[in-house]
Order: sequence, then structure tokens, then C-alpha cells
Amino acid sequence: MKQRLGGLLGGAAVLSLMAGLVLPSPAAAVMVQGYEIDDPTSPTVVVNKHRPLNPVTHVPERLTRIKTEQLHSDAAQAYQRMVKAAKAERVNIVAVSGYRSYDHQASLYDSYVQQYGQETADTIAARPGHSEHQTGLAMDVGNTSGVCALQDCFEGTPVGAWVAEHAWEYGFIIRYPKDEQDVTGYKYEPWHLRYVGPQLAEDMRFAAEESARTGTQPDIDTMEEFFELGPAADYLY
Ligand SMILES: [Zn+2]
Repeated sequence: MKQRLGGLLGGAAVLSLMAGLVLPSPAAAVMVQGYEIDDPTSPTVVVNKHRPLNPVTHVPERLTRIKTEQLHSDAAQAYQRMVKAAKAERVNIVAVSGYRSYDHQASLYDSYVQQYGQETADTIAARPGHSEHQTGLAMDVGNTSGVCALQDCFEGTPVGAWVAEHAWEYGFIIRYPKDEQDVTGYKYEPWHLRYVGPQLAEDMRFAAEESARTGTQPDIDTMEEFFELGPAADYLY
């Protein structure tokens, strides 16, 4: 098989392909897909329960204010274009929660632990240094009415339905899709938009459609699956 692939793809591609198959390490995945997934300043960085920000106290270099919230400047620009496009279709996207610092995330996480205990807290909020919100690339969105805020039924609201269909056109993905908790570590969050840039958003959209069309198992609709990183359901410690 190696020889046949070698003929088709050339030596270097085989090496990265074989490495990707045998050891789905981040480095191999980066080579295979051509995206930077380790650097917290990269819009395509993958942050999850196995992949804390490095350094854990990372602060985005440029933040742009959006109403009461802040986003990484590149994400903010795309976000504002998306809001404008939605508004033209009479859908009003509200910014609920954007950038959160390490300290902010720490106090949020601690408050959930106090309220619900650690096990439940870990399914609702990330531990500090493990939150996409700390990258400045994630925004939780809502409707002006506040209906179904941060609940499953958000998907059926005007904003929920609009972002599910159009967010990718602006470089955002629904980072925690339905029924993927064993992969992402989080329940369905139809409100949590993650900026990954237009290229990756399009590539992921295509991969998701292809996997749905061909019935590929598991399907490919998370960053973990797209980059073949393996599931990150729980913390390693
Ligand atoms: Zn969120």
C-alpha cells in the first residue's frame, strides 16, 4: 500500500499521510491539512480539553470592541460584516459573550463549580486556559428578545437559524454541534460561534457535507474530526 501511494503522491506526502494514520499528532495534522493549529494567535488554533492555550495566560494582541464585548480584530471585522448581512435580512444578531481573559474565565468556572460541582461545571464552562473565548475568536450570540438564550432551543430562533446557515460564509463555525459531546467535550451550543477564517470555514463546510452525503462514520463536523486529533471529551488531569 505504501508503495502504491508513493507512486501516486510522492514520498513526503506518504510520510505525512502515514504519520497521520498511525499517530494523529497535531504536527502531522498541520502538515496534512496545511493549517496552523497550535499557535494561539492563529485563527485556526484548536483549543479543547486536551489542548490548552500555550501559554495558558495568552492575551490576544489586538482586540476590537463590539458593544459590551470584545473580539480579536480579524474576527471582529468578519463578525461585523456578518451582523450587517443578517440585519439586511431582518435578523438582529446580539453579541452576548466574546473575549474572556484567563482571570475572567477562572472566576466563571469557579462559580459553576460552586453551584453545580466540578463534573457538571466541566460540561458547561471551560477551565481557564482551555477556553476558546480566551483566544478572542469566539462569540456567543443571541436574539434581541433574549429568547432561548444559551439553550438548545436557540437553534430554532431567527438568529440561531440564520447563523447555522450563513455563519460559515463569514469565516465562523458552530464549534459545538449537536451530539458531539464525546468529541468536543461540550454539549450542543448553537450560539457559540468560532472564527476560523473563511478558508477553513469553507473547507470544514465541504467536509461536513461530504461526510453527510457519503455516510462517513464518524461524520466530520468538528475541528477535532477535521484535523484527526481524536476526541477530547474530558480533561487529562
Ligand atoms: Zn461560548
